[in-house]
Amino acid sequence: MGALVPLDRPLSTSNLVQPSRASIMRYARDAYDGAPVVAMLESRLSRFHQTSHCITLCSGFWALVLAIRLLARPGRPDLLMPSLTYRRMADVASWSGLHPRFCEVDPDSLACSPATMRAGFTSAVALLLAVHPIVGCCDAPGLVALSEELGCPLLFDSVESVFEHAGGKKVGSFGTECFSLHASKLLNGFEGGYVTTDDDALADRLRQQRDGAAPDGMDVRLEPLHAAMALAGLDELDDQLVRNQACYESYRSGVSTLSGIKVVPFPEGSPTSHKTIVVELTDDWPLSRDTTVMRLNEANILARAYYHPPLHARPMAYAHRAATLPVTDRLGLRFMLLPCGHHVSLDDVRTVIGALRALAG
Ligand SMILES: *Cc1c(COP(=O)(O)O)cnc(C)c1O
Repeated sequence: MGALVPLDRPLSTSNLVQPSRASIMRYARDAYDGAPVVAMLESRLSRFHQTSHCITLCSGFWALVLAIRLLARPGRPDLLMPSLTYRRMADVASWSGLHPRFCEVDPDSLACSPATMRAGFTSAVALLLAVHPIVGCCDAPGLVALSEELGCPLLFDSVESVFEHAGGKKVGSFGTECFSLHASKLLNGFEGGYVTTDDDALADRLRQQRDGAAPDGMDVRLEPLHAAMALAGLDELDDQLVRNQACYESYRSGVSTLSGIKVVPFPEGSPTSHKTIVVELTDDWPLSRDTTVMRLNEANILARAYYHPPLHARPMAYAHRAATLPVTDRLGLRFMLLPCGHHVSLDDVRTVIGALRALAG
């Protein structure tokens, strides 16, 4: 089998949404003239997520760290999280002063579930950190019930599920949740993050920390020009959703003509952003997932392994709880992300399908 012919420009898996220049410039001008664009974004986002408060911050990472520090049960050293998840999540635990403790994910949803979190729970756990997977959602109502039953606080990392619903309710309205405005995510503020919460006291403390009293004296505020970018993106979200769905459907029909590979489906019948394309390589695909990613990358198709290596298998410079997670180990070798987002056209999708067909032999 020969090498694939490289494309003349790279195709990325990052969303990289570019709202119209006129709209960005309008919000940027308003910001320059002193309009409270950060507060405007917060009120738009709290309405969008149907929650009482939105507190913007400089990144999703620091949104998580600040929320964890405020929510964790004192005197308990561990933060429970899935292992098959965002690569920096164990660093989040460390910056929060906690040890990461890892649990399995459900093999059908690729999400931590009430059952997997219950199995990983011990009395040393200070907080349940439930992370929504890239496609679909956690069972958020079930995790809220588990948190109440265990008497252990719960925080959602909802970065991947900005637009989704869980159990008929908007993600962002389940207690306290963290989001990112990084350029690679659904809402692009260049960089940034926010916390949604219905807890008035927690919202007050987060605002106090952000507006001057952050632990370690860090500046964790969102820049007004970043808020301007995010506002422009929010205005054009519907257009993005239409493009994303066309891209997803084009992958679905293209991949269905190949054997050994399947698109991980978004849930039907409930709102979703179709923002990322995840495929599973099944046993009759001729190459390993890592070889497949390498061959595609050589052709400028910047496919990526899905959350690999899982966190419990990574070397870490700080203390964590050793874990044996056979389901995660197996799933960690099967999935990859394919190019999508604002700069990937339907023609590009056809090119990617053609490359996959060539690799399939
Ligand atoms: C990107 C990401 C983050 C971190 O967000 P930043 O704004 O880049 O710091 C956290 N969790 C998940 C699941 C992510 O994908």
